[in-house]
Amino acid sequence: MITERPMPLPDDATTEFWQACQKHELRMQRCASCKEFRWPPRPMCGACQSFDSEWIQVSGRGTIYSYVIAHAPMLPAFAPRAPFPIILVALDEDPAMRMIGNLIGDMREGLQIGAKVTVAFEEVGEVTLPQWKIVGA
Ligand SMILES: [Zn+2]
Repeated sequence: MITERPMPLPDDATTEFWQACQKHELRMQRCASCKEFRWPPRPMCGACQSFDSEWIQVSGRGTIYSYVIAHAPMLPAFAPRAPFPIILVALDEDPAMRMIGNLIGDMREGLQIGAKVTVAFEEVGEVTLPQWKIVGA
C-alpha cells in the first residue's frame, strides 16, 4: 500500500519542465519546427513528426476546463485532504494544452468551469509542484 504522497519522477522528456518549476517558471515543450506545444512533453511532435524541441516560458494563466471533487481518494496519502478538487486547466497560450492539477485555497471560492486560474508553485520536499489558484480568490 502506498502511504506517502507520490511525487513525479523526471525523465529525459520532463527534466526541463521540473527544473523550471524549481525556479517557479512554467515552461512548456514546443516543437522547434512547427511551433505546436507538446503536452505532456515527448520526444516527437505529433503534428509534424519533428524531433526538434524548445522550451517556452508561458504565462501560467488559464481557465478551468473541467474539475472533479475527490471525496474518496485512491491513495491513503490524500485522505486527510478529502474532499478536494482536481482541476483540468486549459492554458491561455493554447487552450488545447490542458494540465491536471490541484487547486490551492478554499474550493468554495469561485470553483466553476470557466474560472480563471493562475499557477502557484508548492515546494514539497525537493520537488516543486505547479498548483493552481483562482484569480481573485
Ligand atoms: Zn511539429
